[in-house]
Amino acid sequence: MTAQRIDGNALSLKLRADVSRRTAALKVKGITPGLAVILVGENPASQVYVRNKVKACADSGLHSVLEKYPDTLNEADLLDRIEALNQDDSIHGILVQLPLPAQMDAQRVIEAISPAKDVDGFHIASAGALMTGMPGFWPCTPYGCMKILESIPYDLKGKHAVVIGRSNIVGKPMALMLLKKNATVTICHSATQDLKAMTLQADVIVAAVGQRNVVTADMVKPGAVVLDVGMNRNDEGKLCGDVDFVGVEQIASYITPVPGGVGPMTITMLLVNTLEAAERTSQS
Ligand code: NAP
Repeated sequence: MTAQRIDGNALSLKLRADVSRRTAALKVKGITPGLAVILVGENPASQVYVRNKVKACADSGLHSVLEKYPDTLNEADLLDRIEALNQDDSIHGILVQLPLPAQMDAQRVIEAISPAKDVDGFHIASAGALMTGMPGFWPCTPYGCMKILESIPYDLKGKHAVVIGRSNIVGKPMALMLLKKNATVTICHSATQDLKAMTLQADVIVAAVGQRNVVTADMVKPGAVVLDVGMNRNDEGKLCGDVDFVGVEQIASYITPVPGGVGPMTITMLLVNTLEAAERTSQS
């Protein structure tokens, strides 16, 4: 069996077309969805990420502001700035690009964002909402994975999903989202004793580790659906995931490539969350 590749770029374009359409409809009501992106310091990868987020907003008709601060900024000043954005009616979503400089407590900074504007879904209120099934914002990367799963003819109900990785931004929320869709979920991590024994039982594997070849063909049940969240560099410096794509593609039924799988979905779900934040204000 050769797996069907899931094209995250194509799915992203489809979802972004819907974002553009709904944004245009909101503008007719006098509301332009607005995202504030805060970057502290000069981290090169973060600079690329925030640039891409701002561009994605412009491409879909959303308003965005990018606020850049030196890494000498003190936390109190950043908290004041977030509070001003919380009060700003032209801003519906606030995103603080991580990582923050060492002198700052990232969680305290995230908690300063109003949960109504927490479009990254990292606030403890958003995490609690996901856990309890209340309305809130879902973290963009696992939310994008769920959209990928929705895009294929596959019913998660009763299936065994194995999530590799338990971070607050990918692994744990991913597991909760799969559970919400009635999958039976196993979460693996660095202390898991026999990862292969776990993945061989999986109907769905989501790899979110950040190490090449964490999942190889001998670890995958024939016909499994494999989503690769990882972003790594191979020996030639090219972007690759956590999954040995060439080998696993021969075993799985569906697989996401890296690049072009989960990656494009993350910014798309940020746009969706920002749009939904704006739509909620228009309904209140
Ligand atoms: P993270 O915070 O470093 O978490 C990695 C997780 O992998 C941890 O839970 C760790 O376990 C687990 N782990 C490490 N080695 C393992 C092993 N040998 N076997 C099983 N589990 C192992 O990373 P993250 O932020 O969740 O991101 C994961 C990957 O996704 C990274 O490559 C990141 O770049 C990528 N990512 C991609 C996107 C995107 O848009 N495509 C977005 C976010 C992240 P412990 O908890 O025990 O340490």
